[in-house]
Amino acid sequence: MRRILVSITTIFLFLSLSVNAQHQHKGVCGTAIDATVDRLIKNKAAIKQGIVKKRGAVTYVPVKYILTARTNGSGRVSEEAILDMHCHLNEVYLEQDIQFYIKDGTFKEVNNDVVYSDHRRTTNTIMRATNDDTAVSIFMVQDIESLGNTAGQILGYYDGQRDWMVVRNDQANRSSQTLPHELGHFFSLAHPHLGWEPAPFAPGEPGWPTAPNVSPGGVTTEFADGSNCENSADMVCDTPADYNGLFNNGCVHNNGAMDPKGQEIEPNTSLIMSYFGDECVNQFTLGQKEIIESDLISSERNRLEKGWTPPAVDVSSNVTIAYPTEDAVAVANGTLNIDWYDVPGATHYIFELGTNRFFNPSESFMIEGSSIELTDLTNRQYFYRIRPFSPYNTCAPKTNAFSFTITNDQATSTNEIGFVKNFSVFPNPVNRNGEVFVSVLSNESFDGEVSVVDFTGKTIYRSFENFVAGDNQIPVQLNLDANGIYLMFVKSDAGILKKKFVVNE
Ligand SMILES: [Zn+2]
Repeated sequence: MRRILVSITTIFLFLSLSVNAQHQHKGVCGTAIDATVDRLIKNKAAIKQGIVKKRGAVTYVPVKYILTARTNGSGRVSEEAILDMHCHLNEVYLEQDIQFYIKDGTFKEVNNDVVYSDHRRTTNTIMRATNDDTAVSIFMVQDIESLGNTAGQILGYYDGQRDWMVVRNDQANRSSQTLPHELGHFFSLAHPHLGWEPAPFAPGEPGWPTAPNVSPGGVTTEFADGSNCENSADMVCDTPADYNGLFNNGCVHNNGAMDPKGQEIEPNTSLIMSYFGDECVNQFTLGQKEIIESDLISSERNRLEKGWTPPAVDVSSNVTIAYPTEDAVAVANGTLNIDWYDVPGATHYIFELGTNRFFNPSESFMIEGSSIELTDLTNRQYFYRIRPFSPYNTCAPKTNAFSFTITNDQATSTNEIGFVKNFSVFPNPVNRNGEVFVSVLSNESFDGEVSVVDFTGKTIYRSFENFVAGDNQIPVQLNLDANGIYLMFVKSDAGILKKKFVVNE
């Protein structure tokens, strides 16, 4: 009996040691200990001189995401994941009147095996060539090799020499604090536990539990009473001493480390610049915010295009489909144009196409404007959903699924009627109560339905016309309540013509 009990105790101890080891090998940041110190000292000096004033308005800071993939184009992080990460970033920095916008609303892509899996070999070649000097460049990579100066898997780092950052693909989501943390470094903040990155202070370390005066990374150890805070660790006085020790109890620090004077330290486990878990951290201190402020207005940051103006409205996911509005569609050559009405504020859309309502598998397209041409469609049902966004506003989720069914691939067409040589709508723009003409130049006569669809997808005008061979000018008298973009259709047995037109005062 006794022996069995001993065995169980041994197993229990072994398990708790494994848990400790996992904590020690958790995700960490690979920013070099001296990456930010020069700018930090300058920014602190500017604060002391009183030249850092509250801006009183939001500053928009451009970022450029550089999405790496293997040479064959595989393995790239999804654009949707980047939108989620960007949304979270702006939520974190909102209270500091800093908002980030994706420069040009587009992503840069690099396909290269080396930059994808071992990017440090390309810092002076591919990375330097793709870096955007007028924005904060963020390289998204599959993996980041440790340089031996950290204990744990590196999730991201800020390169102080080149002033850009690298983030691991799996950090692109709405809960990771990796990118907000790395941007803290970009704005010259250091870790509260600066100097303890290579070897967290924990039981078993030399001198335990009393910390040495200088950390393994060569930085002066901060005292628990803060008396040397100006010139030790991160040089910020409202971030208490932190030696990067073990934190076994969720978000509560309890490892019992003492400062060189024998006083137990109490790190702040909610700081984004610390190594406490994503579930624990959510803030910058006032002292850290002041340094971010100082850095933002410093001459080093003049390279960023900060004069950008965001769209006046927040982007929502209320996408109304203009075409096709009926489920069954006949197409020619497997090609279908899907049109929707512009979502206020949105400049770009991610369009996802799948062959089942679970979108597994699916294909995504990033497009500017509000229509997409789909090709290679076959006779079956398709599902699609759309996520609108602007360079700044990336939080709107995708829509629910829409669907359409391809019924045949005969000689009918959604985009054209073979014997129609020219189709236009004029004047464009037109007045709300004006007359708009449907102009059709045809080689053959045909019967067709003329209709106008508004931006809610409702058909608000319909007439049946006989088109002659030659030139046709069909007047349509408008009597509309609202300005906006409308769609004019001409539908016939031989295909469909459609054109957007603008209605204003
Ligand atoms: Zn860091």
